[in-house]
Amino acid sequence: MIVFKFGGASVNSAAAVRNMAAIVSQYRGQRLVVVISAMGKTTNRLEQLIPGVTPTEQHPELLAALEKYHYDIIDDLFQDRKNPVYGAVSMLFTQLRQAIASTPYPTADSYNADYDRVVSFGELISTTIISHYLNHIGLANRWVDIRQVVITDTNHREGHVDWQRTRANAQTLDSMVTNTTIVITQGFIAGGSDGSTTTLGREGSDYSAAIVSHCLGAESMTIWKDVPGFLNADPKYFANTVKISQIPYNEAIELAYYGASVIHPKTVKPLQNLDIKLHIRSFLDPEAEGSVVGPFSHIEPLTPLYIFRNQQVLLSIMPKDFSFIAEDNLQIIFGTLAEVGVRVNMMQNSALSFSVVVDDNAQLLDSMITKLGSQFRVRYNRGLQLITIRYYNQEVIDRTVAARPILLEQRSRSTVQILVETQPEHN
Ligand code: ASP
Ligand code: MG
Repeated sequence: MIVFKFGGASVNSAAAVRNMAAIVSQYRGQRLVVVISAMGKTTNRLEQLIPGVTPTEQHPELLAALEKYHYDIIDDLFQDRKNPVYGAVSMLFTQLRQAIASTPYPTADSYNADYDRVVSFGELISTTIISHYLNHIGLANRWVDIRQVVITDTNHREGHVDWQRTRANAQTLDSMVTNTTIVITQGFIAGGSDGSTTTLGREGSDYSAAIVSHCLGAESMTIWKDVPGFLNADPKYFANTVKISQIPYNEAIELAYYGASVIHPKTVKPLQNLDIKLHIRSFLDPEAEGSVVGPFSHIEPLTPLYIFRNQQVLLSIMPKDFSFIAEDNLQIIFGTLAEVGVRVNMMQNSALSFSVVVDDNAQLLDSMITKLGSQFRVRYNRGLQLITIRYYNQEVIDRTVAARPILLEQRSRSTVQILVETQPEHN
């Protein structure tokens, strides 16, 4: 059994869907499960249609544009108005309209559940179109509603997987996949324990594919992307990137933790537990080898790896009573961070002040500062960039930091993290 994951960019047009179908056709005869995201930027568009976000009745053009985007792809792929894909997709859009209209006066409590119900249509629609298209070109497949397989709790927008139930359901999935019939299913969405629709967090389709791979005991999982594999830096920042061909599981987890966007942070663990290799390959160059995450001892080739996080804020937290930063104060600070839901990207303490670097989110920051305000003075500094370099040397650091003053720096043997002011533009 092998598992493929195709993200939004790999199915964002009729040409992209044809290309994706050509890749899948190459694996004819193998037992294959294909996990697919919403087409292009559909999830972003659906986010605007959630009740309470945009008064939808005043913006019918948002939904109409999304509908047209999908129907243009269908028209191009099928060129036959009688194909059953039209009925199937039209039914999904009707259900989407109902989902949007069903909560005219949303409350803060219902928002997350509404969110999941509405955004799930991106993946339901994309997989419906692609399943019909593969049938149309003679690639026998079954469309599976992943909400019947991957079960989570009811923590909407970031569901926690119920592994026991999901493993049991995966046995049914396993029996559906044969050498002549592949399975097409959705990433990102899942079934809540109460029967509702949940999601696994933005960009969660990789994680969906990893859950499915784990529960099926797959031989390997492949993420098809628009990059040649795992690069040592984001090509947005670097003209000359190096492709890393082999990455140990733990390295991939660390890189995702520091903010490398190629792999969703939760994706690696379920694969590592069963030694399932994760291939990252280019859908633009499907013959090329790509990168493999697996049970390796070190990265290959060994080269500095760069991760940039922009829009960082440095918070300096000082007890008002001039007491030292010690365990009791740290307990209050960490308690507040956890309560507000702020993720710490870097931290450092001195006798009189505790510094944390977090993503800039005005709402979370306000609520942090309010909560800490009675006991601490909080100063903050916005517009910063956090640079993480693995396998660094001084020359590499100097070149990356350039002449910028360093606000915070931490080094271990393999990793340096440096907080600097954001450069107007990069090399
Ligand atoms: N479609 C979802 C998103 O855009 C999930 C994914 O692409 O992984 O976040
Ligand atoms: Mg995506």
